[in-house]
Amino acid sequence: MSVKKRTSKNVLLDTALNNFYGAADEMGLEDDLVEILSRPERSIIVSLPVVMDDGSVRVFEGYRVQHSTALGPAKGGFRYHPDVDIEECEALGSLMTWKCSLAGIPYGGGKGGVSCDPLELSTAERERLTRTFAARISPIIGEWTDIPAPDVNTGAPEMVWFMDTISKMRGRLEPGVVTGKPISIWGSRGRTAATGLGVATCVRELLKTVKMDVKGTRVIVQGFGNVGTYAALSMSQSGAKIVGISDVTGGYHAPDGIDVQKAFGHINSHPKKLLEGYSQPGLQKIPGDDILLVDADVLTPCALEGAVNARNAASIKAKYIVEGANGPITPDADEILSSKNILVVPDFLANSGGVIGSYFEWVQNLNGFFWTEEEYNSRLIPIMTDNFYRVWNYSQTHEVKMRRAAFLVAIKRVADAVKMRGTFL
Ligand code: NAD
Repeated sequence: MSVKKRTSKNVLLDTALNNFYGAADEMGLEDDLVEILSRPERSIIVSLPVVMDDGSVRVFEGYRVQHSTALGPAKGGFRYHPDVDIEECEALGSLMTWKCSLAGIPYGGGKGGVSCDPLELSTAERERLTRTFAARISPIIGEWTDIPAPDVNTGAPEMVWFMDTISKMRGRLEPGVVTGKPISIWGSRGRTAATGLGVATCVRELLKTVKMDVKGTRVIVQGFGNVGTYAALSMSQSGAKIVGISDVTGGYHAPDGIDVQKAFGHINSHPKKLLEGYSQPGLQKIPGDDILLVDADVLTPCALEGAVNARNAASIKAKYIVEGANGPITPDADEILSSKNILVVPDFLANSGGVIGSYFEWVQNLNGFFWTEEEYNSRLIPIMTDNFYRVWNYSQTHEVKMRRAAFLVAIKRVADAVKMRGTFL
């Protein structure tokens, strides 16, 4: 490769660029494609004057980056956080390009956000900020150009305000301009469980490939939130034995199996949706981080990034890890796990049920016709299964780890699209 490699002081962007250049080198990607795909197609910075509740005006800064639209409209969330900046959006937007490509859906990648502390904002201020942001980035947003979604500190209310603002500005309903809307406002049945169901599908297919029976396989689910609960429910319905679960209140270990339905019922009746106070016969309460280390066959980290790190990686007993969360294994821990022959199914394959679910919402919005939850799941599971085998087969044929295989498969699909479409003029 003879291109001059870009670097960045932003750690996230520098890592994303390094990973891309490393993979591009390994797959022998042509220099012009390396140059094209190492840069975003479009980045904009907008200023957002917002009338605060006390009558004063504060000007926030917002960002939207479209990394690639080679495979389809840019797709990716927008977040509200004090640390958001254009480089972070560029890094996260490129990861969305690879994730959508790997997922086999007709989307490119993008990301956005507003630099703010959402805890300091009232609901009315958040609404005005969201509507101003939508109006300012409206020229580059649309169901066939760029489709935002929820991300850190944004959710269904922000998506509704966003859709409503764009619809009123354009004088027509624009439901497909964002995903992550509530079911009553053009959202989709099935979306809540989609990511967890996708994680569980990867676990089941992985067990088939290594000739283990899912019945009785011992699984740990770290993080019992949206992803973890639905992954645990689906795996236990298949006969897996969930031997440990955890959340911010600690670890809950039951070598003979957690009663997942009961634990799910418990969090749903807890005012903060926590496991605090959960009990069943044979259950032992342990420190939260220790759940990662209990004896099991499969570990699914479904909480936050960096859970498996250089301090605890060597003590993990599970032979297989399926990453439900984004980035739950640090790069140095990845090397330790590799030296212990622990097989890792990477996050952007395992948790892609979320973005595939967003695609389903958009498809239903374009058609104005809604699916049942059964229809939704009957489409999600075959896509997740195909994607799992695409990466598994590549990793077996080329003798590379699944994480690297996923990246190479994803880059190739985007590069092929850029080549076929050609450069303009
Ligand atoms: P969530 O907030 O619903 O759940 C997170 C869970 O982790 C909670 O139960 C919380 O108590 C627990 N937790 C936090 N810190 C912990 C700790 N130190 N030890 C044990 N448990 C801890 O979030 P979520 O939507 O389930 O997302 C989880 C991860 O999955 C994140 O990395 C997110 O980016 C990723 N992800 C989510 C989706 C989705 O559709 N929700 C899609 C793709 C990726």
